[in-house]
Amino acid sequence: MSERRDEKESDLEKKLSYKADFAWPKYTEEQKRAARVLAQDYLIFLKETRTERERVAFAERLAQGKGFRQVELGESAAPLKAGEKVYYVNRGKNIALFVVGDAPMTSGHRFIGAHGDFPRLDLKIDPLYEKDGFALFKTHYYGGIKKYQYATVPLVLAGVVAKKDGDLVKIDVGSEPDDPVFVIPDLLVHLAHKVQGERKAFDTIKAEEMNAVVGALQIGDEKAKNRFKLNVLSILNEKYGITEDDFHSAELSLVPAITPRYIGLDKSMVGAAGQDDGASTFLALRAILDLAPGAATGTTGTTGTGIFDKEETGSNGPTGAQSSWMQSVVADMVSRTGVEASLTNVHLAFRAMKMISADVTAALDPSFGSVHDPQTAAMAGKGVVVEKYSGSGGKRGTNDATAEYVGFIRRVFSEANVPFQFGTLGQVDAGGGGTIAMFFAQNFNCDVVDCGVPVLNMHSPYEVTHIADLYSGYLAYKAFLSA
Ligand code: MN
Ligand code: MN
Repeated sequence: MSERRDEKESDLEKKLSYKADFAWPKYTEEQKRAARVLAQDYLIFLKETRTERERVAFAERLAQGKGFRQVELGESAAPLKAGEKVYYVNRGKNIALFVVGDAPMTSGHRFIGAHGDFPRLDLKIDPLYEKDGFALFKTHYYGGIKKYQYATVPLVLAGVVAKKDGDLVKIDVGSEPDDPVFVIPDLLVHLAHKVQGERKAFDTIKAEEMNAVVGALQIGDEKAKNRFKLNVLSILNEKYGITEDDFHSAELSLVPAITPRYIGLDKSMVGAAGQDDGASTFLALRAILDLAPGAATGTTGTTGTGIFDKEETGSNGPTGAQSSWMQSVVADMVSRTGVEASLTNVHLAFRAMKMISADVTAALDPSFGSVHDPQTAAMAGKGVVVEKYSGSGGKRGTNDATAEYVGFIRRVFSEANVPFQFGTLGQVDAGGGGTIAMFFAQNFNCDVVDCGVPVLNMHSPYEVTHIADLYSGYLAYKAFLSA
């Protein structure tokens, strides 16, 4: 008797209750192999892209290899035909790629938006100085970081310098195995008890103490002033043809010089800097590139993927998600796909757009469970996370996706057998975070929901993702684009 009742109860539980399971056991052997291949490609992407510019260039290279061609806003050109693949680039830091469908944009299209920037240390506008036998770079952190995590970590110097004559010089020191790297010194523990022991943790190293050592040899000329600084300047001049004044028109960053690699005996995770949001950028990119080659996607609508800049600092500026660039792009696509790009039609195209804001979220941290709500926290390994809203306490600063739209996403992922989970970031009032979703929602009146992989150590020099989640994200984005 009792056995039968148990059976009934478990049937009922299956029928009525929701529970997200771990993704890996749900994959077929073939899918597991594909997940490992994807993770391997992801490691290469992480190794090769140190800045948002490099991520856009990487996307461009891959897209060209898959038959995408670059188009410009406003150029008079023949209308696009179904199956054609095009992309737009904005200032080298922002890209949107489209596979053209056979219906006008005003009747709907699907778009995934990710961000290519990630937390790092930018050089100050006048960075170089010397003190106590060292040449150093002053920095200004970019995005939300625990500053102390970036001290005593090897750093790559990457970015561009725009010279007065218009030349753009690419700088990369530290990416090659034999390159030197840079480091921000932290006080030795022997002397730290008083100075740092009494500080609050977030101030262990203060912003103005985030100075990177870049040299410790003097230039030969004994009469010269600032010989340590001058030695660094002369090396930079020899290698890149730049002078100190050129720092004023530069975008130079220090990013962790730690080689991306697998974590765990089972190689179940990937460790690297810049996975927020290298993960979403890479997966969204691969999703659109891997759709059926040549032809339209088997659906009637156009599909697209975009990589935006400046998400970590508020999506501002011409290359951020708050820029009007996306509006120009959609207007251009509207007219190229056979409809007059009137203001009404552009608004109609956005209203009919279905979007995923591809952005990572927090994975439940096994040692800091207290900041999470275990019932709503995302777990590493349970697949890509659909986050109905982000923001902070009181549901401020968020796009709260409509019930109807989340229902649509549930249907798409379930029909494609994608393992996925729902989640929110942390306990109410424990903190919070935003994404590009709210800017698209409010500026363009489109349907959008956040969806990305969970990350451990987010915004640190060594973020961790799970290979089952990366593969789930890839499947989810592909399913969405083909839905
Ligand atoms: Mn972030
Ligand atoms: Mn992100």
